[in-house]
Amino acid sequence: MACLFCKIARGEIPANVVLDQPEVMAFRDINPVAPTHILIIPKRHIASLAEITAAETGVLGEMFLAARELAARDNVLSSGFRTVFNTGSDAGQTVFHLHLHLLAGRVMAWPPG
Ligand code: 5GP
Ligand code: ZN
Repeated sequence: MACLFCKIARGEIPANVVLDQPEVMAFRDINPVAPTHILIIPKRHIASLAEITAAETGVLGEMFLAARELAARDNVLSSGFRTVFNTGSDAGQTVFHLHLHLLAGRVMAWPPG
């Protein structure tokens, strides 16, 4: 499949991988918008949160556990962090392989732009 994040998951495109589990992997964003900016993905292709079914509840839980573990490793558990799924064009999704952004290391605005 000609999907960028599938290629990263298969090791065909290099990435700064910070977590590699059987169903989930995480790597640093190529264009970070915060000191910690990590993308957490399911290895199996799912286009977006708009496509999930009950079959994905397990892997979604693993993605959030990964976010917690990576936040702990980057020492931002107490300072705080943001987890974001951009879904579809209005939300600014650009890569159509499900990914959870883990953002931390600076104060963030609310509401997001
Ligand atoms: P989206 O806008 O779809 O929510 O987020 C896609 C993210 O993927 C962006 O933050 C973008 O910087 C990141 N990205 C795009 N291409 C690559 C790549 O080849 N490698 C890595 N590590 N990140 C990428
Ligand atoms: Zn994919």
